[in-house]
Amino acid sequence: MPLSPEQKQEIEEQRSTSQPTLRAVSPGMEKHLYTAHEVLDHGFVRVIDYMGDDAAICQAARVSYGKGTKSVQNDEGLIRYLMRHWHSTPFEMCEIKLHVKLPVFVARQWIRHRTANVNEYSARYSILDREFYIPAPEHIAAQSVVNNQGRGAALQGEEAARVLEILKADSNRCYDNYEAMISDDGQQGLARELARMNLPANVYTQWYWKVDLHNLFHFLRLRADHHAQYEIRVYADAICKVVADWVPAAYGAFEDYRLGGANLSGRAMDCIRRMLKGEEVTQETSGMSKGEWREFEAELRG
Ligand SMILES: Cc1cc2nc3c(=O)[nH]c(=O)nc-3n(C[C@H](O)[C@H](O)[C@H](O)COP(=O)(O)OP(=O)(O)OC[C@H]3O[C@@H](n4cnc5c(N)ncnc54)[C@H](O)[C@@H]3O)c2cc1C
Repeated sequence: MPLSPEQKQEIEEQRSTSQPTLRAVSPGMEKHLYTAHEVLDHGFVRVIDYMGDDAAICQAARVSYGKGTKSVQNDEGLIRYLMRHWHSTPFEMCEIKLHVKLPVFVARQWIRHRTANVNEYSARYSILDREFYIPAPEHIAAQSVVNNQGRGAALQGEEAARVLEILKADSNRCYDNYEAMISDDGQQGLARELARMNLPANVYTQWYWKVDLHNLFHFLRLRADHHAQYEIRVYADAICKVVADWVPAAYGAFEDYRLGGANLSGRAMDCIRRMLKGEEVTQETSGMSKGEWREFEAELRG
């Protein structure tokens, strides 16, 4: 269960009080504040705080004395220009603080994004809950034969059932031993900071994660992409929905230029120019390796 009834009540209480402010407010983001968006079997993403909106990006770009807004159309044009030309610092003027609950193996991928501020739940101080990520049956998939870093079709029947059983049994056995080791039971019990080393990588952890919009877009570009592992991609997808409501013009530009756009090499551009002139270009005449050509064709097919 991602949230207990007590935690839900705490969030409701937080949502029921409001205060007047002179700060810029994004109406789309206000509806997300504090609310937990469920991800995987026990995880969530929720917005704790944010700073700025689309207008704040324009305000910074124009180094304005006032709000920086000219007209919505004008602002959108400016934001698209900034995104197109990698003029990134105005996007750094917006910030978001998230509370994320995620399996440890997902956290290991996430923490590689160094341009954020993180504070994680302390398993030295607190006892971790008996909560493990167990994939839904359709996500218990075989090793991919084309991509060493990916997965293929879902396992079926007995094989899937056997894997699921191993995952559940190992998780529970590890947690039973964790509990047994920290239990004081008349004696002192093993220190939590040591007992936790026995827990598997699918145990859930939590953190507060604060990042500016430019670096968040970089994270989303990599992790909302089909090359990213499903278990981190679902978090990125949940954050994308929040960002689309928070800064609709900036997200629209990001979706168009980064998520929907492609990074093409000089050779790839040369091939496109030759194709436009009517030449039939093949991998052999392209100057690209087989892998590059395969990816290039996939980009062109869309
Ligand atoms: C599909 C996929 C597969 C991956 N596979 C692997 C893998 O097999 N093994 C592995 O170890 N990692 C892997 N990674 C992680 C990847 O290499 C990056 O570490 C991760 O995506 C974070 O990217 P970043 O460094 O650009 O982000 P951030 O840390 O947020 O940095 C943003 C940018 O800031 C700059 N920057 C930040 N810190 C420094 C610094 N210290 N020095 C110089 N410039 C800096 C860089 O320009 C960087 O691009 C994978 C990532 C993806 C998306």
